[in-house]
Amino acid sequence: MIRATLLTLVAAALFAAPQPDWPAARQEALDTLGDLVKLDTSQPEGNEIRAAKYLKAKLDAEGIASAIVEAKPGRASLIARVKGNGSKRPLLLLGHLDVVAVERSEWSFDPFGGVVEDGILYARGSGDDKGVVAGSFQTLLMLHRLQVPLARDVIFLGVADEEAGGLEGITYLLDNHREKIEAEFAINEAGKGVFDRSANYTRFEIQTAEKTPRRVDLKAAGTSGHGSIPLKDNPVGSLARAVGRLFDHEMPPRLNETTREYFRRLAEISPPERAEVFRAILAPNPTPEDYERLRGLSPVYHSMVRTSIVPTIFRGGYLKNVIPAEAEATIDIRALPDEDPERMFSLLKRIMNEPTVDLTPHPQTRPSHEPSSLETDVFRAFEKVLEKMHPGVPVLPTMSTGATDSAQLRAAGIASYGFGPAKPAWDLAGGIHGKDEYLYVKPFQDYVEILWNVVLEIAADR
Ligand SMILES: [Zn+2]
Repeated sequence: MIRATLLTLVAAALFAAPQPDWPAARQEALDTLGDLVKLDTSQPEGNEIRAAKYLKAKLDAEGIASAIVEAKPGRASLIARVKGNGSKRPLLLLGHLDVVAVERSEWSFDPFGGVVEDGILYARGSGDDKGVVAGSFQTLLMLHRLQVPLARDVIFLGVADEEAGGLEGITYLLDNHREKIEAEFAINEAGKGVFDRSANYTRFEIQTAEKTPRRVDLKAAGTSGHGSIPLKDNPVGSLARAVGRLFDHEMPPRLNETTREYFRRLAEISPPERAEVFRAILAPNPTPEDYERLRGLSPVYHSMVRTSIVPTIFRGGYLKNVIPAEAEATIDIRALPDEDPERMFSLLKRIMNEPTVDLTPHPQTRPSHEPSSLETDVFRAFEKVLEKMHPGVPVLPTMSTGATDSAQLRAAGIASYGFGPAKPAWDLAGGIHGKDEYLYVKPFQDYVEILWNVVLEIAADR
């Protein structure tokens, strides 16, 4: 009797978290993902209603209440909730239902066929972001089925329109249905594991910050005329000078909590000569040469420490012997998350120093925001669970150079953390947004297990 009680206690301590039938749950998550990628939810139309209805039917069958919210007909987001006891504020699990458009002729597979070959799923949306949708959805299903006692509600959100900036998705929901997704924390896309050729995990990245797109159009105006007669206000010349000055300008390097900790941990796991570069920029008063060495290691590191200014479009003129009346350029600026856009635009005008060149910012979809803190239950839960499930594999907080819905969430005061299925070290982009987008099946299923344990760690009532 005493022995039985002891055994029960030991078992309870070891398996404090209820665990589903994992082989079945891993298969179910993959089936959901396979179904999701067959639904064409590509931008610009989106038609996310297809995925929202598919998932809602599953929720209905389980008896989980859910709501489809449409910003416009077809631009649908799906919201469902498993209730906790309310002692803590909710946790939001989100992924986006839309995908970027496809150029079918470029693909070796039907982009909406859900082909699996050699353990790899090839489909638009496999890497971005239907794996995260399927994993978050599976977690919600299992919380409900196992009747896990929760200290906080767990909300599932399959959101529309992320790829176009979120105006008809996360921004619409925050503006019009805030109470449905109000949460203390969110877990969204963008972080990931990384595995090597032997399928071993080499690191896990938790996204706690991201840069914000701040694109601008430049327009130079001048006098049109004959190519044989030089004119001082030739717009091709003045625009070229303006773009050249912007291209040459380096915004000052600046670290935040995330990037400082990222490079600190990276130094710990890097060979000495690389570690030394990371330590140099963390030391007081790094020199421009230190930052050049960082850039030499990776252009991504270079972008992580500063607001970047990248000319992407330059257009002017139409005949070899005619001076055109105008010329245009577009600059893709990716600002550090806390950069004040207005101050930055006036700085750019001073740098251009061309009175005939006008600067027009693109409409801003992603707000400036504070990175999410590393001193929270969520970040600690990732560290604890990953150390338990994959001992010794380093966990790094990261700042994306690209943008996600986490910008809006963080700006709205919901601390957001990015984590998704692992990617191969030799191709971290995984074809995302390109042709033959893919996802490794086993790391996807491992991700579902990790997410489940992280969610229990944050939300279970113990
Ligand atoms: Zn995405």
